[in-house]
Amino acid sequence: MTDNVAQFQAQAAVLDAADTLASKRDAFSLPDNTVYLDGNSLGPLTQEAKARAKDVVERQWGQDLITSWNSHDWIHLPTIVGEKIAPLIGAAPEQVIACDSISVNLYKLLNAALRLQADRDVVLTTADNFPTDRYMVEGLNASIGERAITLRSVEESAILDSIDERVAVVMLTQVNFKTGNRLDMQAITEKAHQFGCLVIWDLAHSAGVLDVQLDACNVDFAVGCGYKYLNGGPGAPAFVYVAQRHQANYRQPLQGWMGHAAPFSFAPDYQAPTTIKQNLVGTPPVLSMSVLDASLAVFADVQMLDIEHKAIGLTQFFVDGLDAYDLKTCFHGVSAVGHGQSGAQVGLCHPDAYAICQALISEGVIVDFRAPDILRLGFSPLFLRYVDVATAIEKLADVMQLQRYQAAEFQVKQAVT
Ligand SMILES: *Cc1c(COP(=O)(O)O)cnc(C)c1O
Repeated sequence: MTDNVAQFQAQAAVLDAADTLASKRDAFSLPDNTVYLDGNSLGPLTQEAKARAKDVVERQWGQDLITSWNSHDWIHLPTIVGEKIAPLIGAAPEQVIACDSISVNLYKLLNAALRLQADRDVVLTTADNFPTDRYMVEGLNASIGERAITLRSVEESAILDSIDERVAVVMLTQVNFKTGNRLDMQAITEKAHQFGCLVIWDLAHSAGVLDVQLDACNVDFAVGCGYKYLNGGPGAPAFVYVAQRHQANYRQPLQGWMGHAAPFSFAPDYQAPTTIKQNLVGTPPVLSMSVLDASLAVFADVQMLDIEHKAIGLTQFFVDGLDAYDLKTCFHGVSAVGHGQSGAQVGLCHPDAYAICQALISEGVIVDFRAPDILRLGFSPLFLRYVDVATAIEKLADVMQLQRYQAAEFQVKQAVT
């Protein structure tokens, strides 16, 4: 062991001993001998969520049946969950609701924002934004008839200079899903407003891990994910944020009965509520919404700023580990990390990234691959320890230095990467 490696390993224990969030790990139900660096893709199960899943199936559905809509308040779950998410993203009450997926919520927001901007025809986004965000704009064109919307795609570095009077909506993801690069929400939102544009922020890789400040940044609209850092379980509902000042004029196109001003009046014509509830469409998925609700308990007594600090601490420690083990030169790109600069993930570029990913998984280090050549590692701060990061680096060194990823078994592509 070189001195650098010995020092790095020793540092992990020091950092864990000083970690004020360390006890949060006990709230999770994690498998043994696994370092889970995919909390950014599918957050792990919490003890509270496990208990709730059992209760909602066996007691609420099994015993109390339809009376549970009232007795267990199923009908208000989207609002209850939205209000629990609000403080995590810097939103005052009555602006966030849990419903549908990010994709569907983006459709609502894009359509509503374009209605508010009748004389503009450009949606500005990044060329490497998450595909669904881009696809939803492409699909919108088919549904809004005569009015052709142009998707203007630019590099992250060109966003500020690409904002002009033709832009109706600036739609961006705060943390890049591949590289982990973090955009400056405040500066971009401010510039967009100077030019009369509305902004939609996708918080898929920031909600639950960064100290997002939607109200303070004067954001118009936002969406975010329930199953990533919020640990809501596979396919958990997403959430949507509509700033209070827009709610009176906001009209989203998916006019469903649950988003009617009085759903149980069963009125023949739709009437929009001028509240965040307008975003509801159909019946909420009670099982997964309940699990998401329970998962949020882990955030009840922690500050987002502390979570963000640890997230950056873990990512920086990982990058320090690459140096200590002299691994940086194995990759043709390593994403930059740092406060204000990144989220909680690191992307490593390598032509064999897929095989490296599989080799690491076989060693109990769960990471993921993003085409064409990125090995993506997420550092979710509520359950990861610095010693886990040290273990991951040690395994990565093994896989790279012995080229273990060259084995035939690691070359086979599966349906989900
Ligand atoms: C994960 C992710 C999504 C997922 O969208 P769903 O419709 O909820 O599946 C959307 N946007 C970004 C940036 C993501 O990372």
